[in-house]
Amino acid sequence: MTERLIVIGNGMAGLRLLDELCRLAPERYEVTVVGAEPVPAYNRVLLSALLAGDVNGADLEYHPAAWYAGRGLRLKLGVPVTAVSARARQVITADGETLPFDRLVLATGSEALRPPIDGMDLEAVLTFRDLGDVAGMEALLPSCRRAVVIGGGLLGLEAAYGLAKRGLSVTVVHLMDRLMERQLDGPAARLLQRSLAARDIAVRLNARTTRVLGRARAEGVRLEGGETLPADLVVAAVGIRPLTALAEAAGIACDRGVLVDDHLETSKPGIYAIGECARHAGTCYGLVAPAYEQAAVLARRLAGQAAVYRGSLVATSLKVSGVDVFSAGDFLGEAASDEVVLSDPGAGVYRKLVLREGRLTGAVLCGDTADSEFYLDLMRSRQPVGQVKTDLVFGRALVEAA
Ligand SMILES: Cc1cc2nc3c(=O)[nH]c(=O)nc-3n(C[C@H](O)[C@H](O)[C@H](O)COP(=O)(O)OP(=O)(O)OC[C@H]3O[C@@H](n4cnc5c(N)ncnc54)[C@H](O)[C@@H]3O)c2cc1C
Repeated sequence: MTERLIVIGNGMAGLRLLDELCRLAPERYEVTVVGAEPVPAYNRVLLSALLAGDVNGADLEYHPAAWYAGRGLRLKLGVPVTAVSARARQVITADGETLPFDRLVLATGSEALRPPIDGMDLEAVLTFRDLGDVAGMEALLPSCRRAVVIGGGLLGLEAAYGLAKRGLSVTVVHLMDRLMERQLDGPAARLLQRSLAARDIAVRLNARTTRVLGRARAEGVRLEGGETLPADLVVAAVGIRPLTALAEAAGIACDRGVLVDDHLETSKPGIYAIGECARHAGTCYGLVAPAYEQAAVLARRLAGQAAVYRGSLVATSLKVSGVDVFSAGDFLGEAASDEVVLSDPGAGVYRKLVLREGRLTGAVLCGDTADSEFYLDLMRSRQPVGQVKTDLVFGRALVEAA
């Protein structure tokens, strides 16, 4: 008898799983996909480019609803799953439907965190996570001149760039002493800040937002110390939180993420989790490459093949036109590691490579990221760099010549 498989979440991880499963074992399951968003899975990574006006909505689309129907996949959209029963092997959706399963995949992703300050419920205060958020910003643009983005991480800076490109005067308010502190060291972050200033994006570091000001609609933000920054639009990009409520209520082990083993299986047999909602070996990844790697492993297992997931090496690139920034691995370097640095602030170029026991373990590139894939491949291969250690910082061309 065909097994029933339910996938909760039609986002980037959930769709990749379906793509792989349709390829590997198209007949093996009777599949139902339930997605809370009203449209089929789209390329969330391109939301930044959509906001900036660099792409249009159609560029984000993957498969139309007919693709799912054509493969016998039932797609139920715009309706979240509200409960999972691991014992009764069924899920319940917000419109009251009960769906039985033999195997279940949680691919619910994350939610954008909202800072716990007054004024977050005012009109023109938004987060940056889905198509609805971008549509909300689009609708407000004609009535906005100034925006404040709370958060100077990757998403905050991409939101700031998008809004600046649409003609707004933008200030980024960041709590920490440097931008993108989870990906960049001090010199790289300073170079990035300079590049943003050249694009009229102001940055306030070491600045805590204490409230959003306004009566019905946002009029500005107040910083600790009393200073106020006027704004007609406030975007909060202060981090994400894995969506685990369904799993927790179903008695599935969670700890700031749905805990999964090397088979992507949760504490309940036959129930799996992938993507941003999953926590594997102590890590929740907030990036799409690990979500895809997890989806590929799980698809193979669901297809009856042997596969294990051992974690992912993460790499981040900022998608701001003309501001090339790349970071991967252990970019800060520990005591026992070596660093090779090339710094030319005048030319806007900075490269730092971190090596440990003769192998490349981390890289930060600013200004010229053409060699990012080369360094990433070296990190993934764990190949000793040998004699070329010092030349490595000059990039692939010089290393190959050497
Ligand atoms: C603006 C932006 C830019 C980004 N840029 C990059 C980048 O450059 N590089 C990179 O690697 N990553 C980037 N990311 C992150 C990347 O998009 C995510 O890592 C990726 O989407 C994770 O996939 P996922 O399937 O786990 O989660 P999602 O894609 O968020 O999908 C989860 C889906 O599950 C749905 N869902 C949640 N709860 C329920 C429920 N109860 N019932 C039914 N459905 C539910 C959600 O509505 C959502 O549609 C970016 C993200 C954003 C927002």
